[in-house]
Amino acid sequence: MNLKTIIKSYQSDYNENSTHYILKCPECNREKLYVDKKEKLFICFRCGIKGGFVGLVRYLKNVSCEEAYRIINNNRRVDSKLEQETLHSLTHFWEKVEKRQKSKLVFLPDDCRPLSFYDNDGLLILNDYLEERELTKLHSYIFDLGYSQKMQRLIFPIYSGYELVGWQGRTIFPNVKPKMLNNLGLNKSDYLYNYDTVFDNGVKSLILSEGPIDCIKANGVMPAVALFGKTMSRKQFNDIITLSPDKLYIGLDFDAEKQAFEIARKFFCFIPEVYVLNIPEGRDLGDSSIEEIEGYIRCASVASVTQNLNLCLEGFLNAG
Ligand SMILES: [Zn+2]
Repeated sequence: MNLKTIIKSYQSDYNENSTHYILKCPECNREKLYVDKKEKLFICFRCGIKGGFVGLVRYLKNVSCEEAYRIINNNRRVDSKLEQETLHSLTHFWEKVEKRQKSKLVFLPDDCRPLSFYDNDGLLILNDYLEERELTKLHSYIFDLGYSQKMQRLIFPIYSGYELVGWQGRTIFPNVKPKMLNNLGLNKSDYLYNYDTVFDNGVKSLILSEGPIDCIKANGVMPAVALFGKTMSRKQFNDIITLSPDKLYIGLDFDAEKQAFEIARKFFCFIPEVYVLNIPEGRDLGDSSIEEIEGYIRCASVASVTQNLNLCLEGFLNAG
C-alpha cells in the first residue's frame, strides 16, 4: 500500500499542501499531524509524536511493527531493504532538525533596557512615541519591549520556542533610515512574531500583520502574529496552518494590498474563512486604535468570503 492509500483509509477528509498531508493526530486528536509526502516522515506539532513510514502506519492503523511492515509490503514477507530505507530517511530527518537547532546564540543590544527603566527618566521623545502609538506598560511587559539609547531604537525581541532568536530595532524618529534594523544574521522568513503565545493558547481567529507594532496593536483585538515584512515564506505558511484558525485576517499596510491578496489566496482551502483588511491610505495597524482595528475587521468580512468561495469553486472547476 502506498502512503496516499493508507492516509485515505485513515481519514478521507484530510487536508494537504504541495509538500505535506495534514491529518488528525491519532494520539492527541488535533489536526496537527504533518506527513512529508516525499520522505514519508511524520510529526505532530501538538503532542510531538514523530517518525518514519512504518511508525506512521503503526499509529494510523493501530497495529504492531510487523503488521505495519506487512501492510506496506502488501502481505509480502518483510524485506530488510525497506527497513534500511526507513532508517536512512529517519537519520536524514534528524540531521535536518539538528542543523536547524545549532544556531548561533543571539544577544540583545548591550544597552537595551526594559521600557519600565525609562518610566521616570524623562526620555520625553520615547514616551511621546509610545503614547502616540498607544503602546502601554502592559504591552511592554507582555512583549518584552526594550529601548537602546545608543541606537535610539525601540527593541522588539523575537522568540521562537521561547528562546531569543533575534530582534528588530525601530527608530523613534520620523526621518531616520532604515526604519527597522535587524540583528546581524536574523533570517526573518524563519519566524513569526508572537508565535509562541498564539500557539500555546490556540486560536479560532488570527490576524496576520506586517511588523511587531502592528502585531502588538492587533493582538488587543484578537490573537495576532507578524511576518516581518510583506511576503510570506513556506515555513511561515506552514506555521500558520499548524495553528488551524477558522478565520484569518490579513492586515498588511495600505501600500501592500496586492501582496495581501496573494498571501490570502495561498490559504484558501486550508483555512475556512480568509479576509483581507481594508486599511485606509497612509495607515497601518500599528497607528490604529483598537476601535479602528475592530472597524477594519467588520468591513473586511463580506467581500472576501465570497471571493474565497469563488476562487475555491474556480479551483475545483479547473481541476475537474
Ligand atoms: Zn498529536
